[in-house]
Amino acid sequence: MNTGIDLDFEYQIVRSKRKTVAIHLRNGKVEVRTPQRIDNAWVQQFVENKADWINTQLAQQLKNKTEQYQMTDGESITFLGHELQLQLRLASRNKVYIEAGKLCIEGRIETSEKALKLFHNWLKDQARAYMVPRTEAYAARLGVEDSLQQIRFRKTRSKWGHCSSKGIIQFNELIMLAPTMVVEYLIIHEVCHLVYMNHSRQYWKLVEGHCPDYSEMKTWLTENGHRFWFDTEQQSASHLDAGLSD
Ligand SMILES: [Zn+2]
Repeated sequence: MNTGIDLDFEYQIVRSKRKTVAIHLRNGKVEVRTPQRIDNAWVQQFVENKADWINTQLAQQLKNKTEQYQMTDGESITFLGHELQLQLRLASRNKVYIEAGKLCIEGRIETSEKALKLFHNWLKDQARAYMVPRTEAYAARLGVEDSLQQIRFRKTRSKWGHCSSKGIIQFNELIMLAPTMVVEYLIIHEVCHLVYMNHSRQYWKLVEGHCPDYSEMKTWLTENGHRFWFDTEQQSASHLDAGLSD
């Protein structure tokens, strides 16, 4: 079947036991996941109907990728919102430090992956030192210090922070690259979950009481957060699920 629409991307069909059709985009590749019985003509029509969405997502993924920080000597990154120039040096001893506008990473860093690993270990230490006391202070201010059981740092892909019903708050240490106000917002966001385990109106009211500009911070993170995932790391993906009636 040829409907005359020229698609400016190619796609791959992956048939499986699934019951619905989904479009999955990753690293510029388009994959259509369908049940076994769906034929190629149907998929072609389906993809044509979703072409606008797919093109928008592909463009966004490409933009995000070009904006990601690079672990390369001389590149600029941010730390607590301050711009720093990366200085990578081979050395026998591992050392990461900030000096005169530079973030110096020294050690056996023959590859950018190795440099990135050193950097992440350093960043986690920085996050712990900076965010733990602030998180505890906010918990005390809200009178929920007894509910706060643990503060963890983990480079999760999907979230900047998380608060469990057991009182465990988890932060993504990459947030340390954001301006201090944004870090502050994230801390407040998670600590307020110790009071309300939801995103109800009361919850946001409480957040607002401690961070009046919270919606600006949220927007900032949505627009800029992807930069903190250094190239080679996060592979941006988009996903569209559709019922078969589509
Ligand atoms: Zn939340």
